[in-house]
Amino acid sequence: MMDDFNIETSEIIHEEIQEQTGFSVTASHLLEYLFCPRFTYFEYVLDIPQHEEKRFKVEVGRKIHERARKINPDYLRKKIGVKDKQSDVYLSGSMGIRGIVDEILFLDDGTTSPLDYKYAEYKEKIFKTYKLQLVFYAQLIKDNFNVPVTRGFIVYTRSKNKLIEVPIQQKDFNELEEIVKNLLDIIQRCRYPKPTRYKRRCPDCCYRNICERTI
Ligand code: SF4
Repeated sequence: MMDDFNIETSEIIHEEIQEQTGFSVTASHLLEYLFCPRFTYFEYVLDIPQHEEKRFKVEVGRKIHERARKINPDYLRKKIGVKDKQSDVYLSGSMGIRGIVDEILFLDDGTTSPLDYKYAEYKEKIFKTYKLQLVFYAQLIKDNFNVPVTRGFIVYTRSKNKLIEVPIQQKDFNELEEIVKNLLDIIQRCRYPKPTRYKRRCPDCCYRNICERTI
């Protein structure tokens, strides 16, 4: 299923971008940026490590926990028509993004989808961060496989592995591209970004003691 040429090409492009920028964007960078663009500035421009709340490290710990909760392939086949799947696939993409996709699903209708496990309960709505992470993985799949990606799936492991389908449209890929551009702009050009609009995030932020928003 893997397109060797595309993978190789993508790796070369990725290496060239890394050589030029010295930085490639992962889903964790995306989450941090979505939390607050200024957080990205403190961590990657001023190089001040997160040292108090291991907010994003916790996420990694949860990921390890999720590994033990993989969903039954027969169930997937019946429910959404999965022909084939690959697990824990490392991919790098054309915008200088890279990451490990929990599962890549090859579907009956000829499309391909990312599936992401979340150590969370389903709250009857899809959080923006979850959606953008899926779009991030969808972009990686698009960059490496010659198949359309029109939807992704989230498994909520704390709601009895509830499987939720999430449509992915061109506007979502455009939004991701804009975010990655802005994120790289902060890091490569040392652009000082505006703070998050959500002031309630500041008390939880490990940079609250040095951020002019709060001092
Ligand atoms: S204190 Fe608030 S504005 Fe400053 S980096 Fe943290 S979240 Fe962003």
